[in-house]
Amino acid sequence: MDYYSSRINSLIEELSRLPGIGSKSAQRLAFHIVNMPEEKVKSLADTMMDARLHVCYCKECYTLTDDELCPICKDKARDHSTIMVVENTRDLAAYEKTGKYNGVYHVLHGAISPALGIGPNDIKLKELMKRLLSDVNEVIIATNSSLEGETTAMYISKLIKPSGIKVTRIASGVPVGGDLEYIDEITLTRALDGRVEL
Ligand code: ZN
Repeated sequence: MDYYSSRINSLIEELSRLPGIGSKSAQRLAFHIVNMPEEKVKSLADTMMDARLHVCYCKECYTLTDDELCPICKDKARDHSTIMVVENTRDLAAYEKTGKYNGVYHVLHGAISPALGIGPNDIKLKELMKRLLSDVNEVIIATNSSLEGETTAMYISKLIKPSGIKVTRIASGVPVGGDLEYIDEITLTRALDGRVEL
């Protein structure tokens, strides 16, 4: 790509490192950015930096938030004895959008994958077990229906069962390998309502 200036080249290079951005999209974005009004570019850069500096994990459920506790964990009207375990914050958002779930969440930030060398200690599992020491009636495992999601569900269920806490798994009907965030709200609600005890 020597036909672009070195500054354009480095911008393209940086952008193409982002997930889902191929070299064509990176080029398009780079040319868009250099043609944007200066203050818009500054605002974009500042917003990115601000988010990076101030977004942290909720100390209860580990979702991404600006505060010590996320709005869901702070909400006293929610059922804190029901914990839904999801792989990431986007999955949490997908369930929140249905408006049909009144419990709280636990975000694992990943799934167990022996193939990728991701073990139980690489996700927020110890943190989940710690939460179970307080009053918890049910843990709903809502990891994806991919191999990793299923492996994680089985692992968690085996870990929790001896404690006597009810462990359920969202119903199938969620397509295999499907990311929760891409599934429509009706399917998600159905998967939640049809959950089965493990
Ligand atoms: Zn939280």
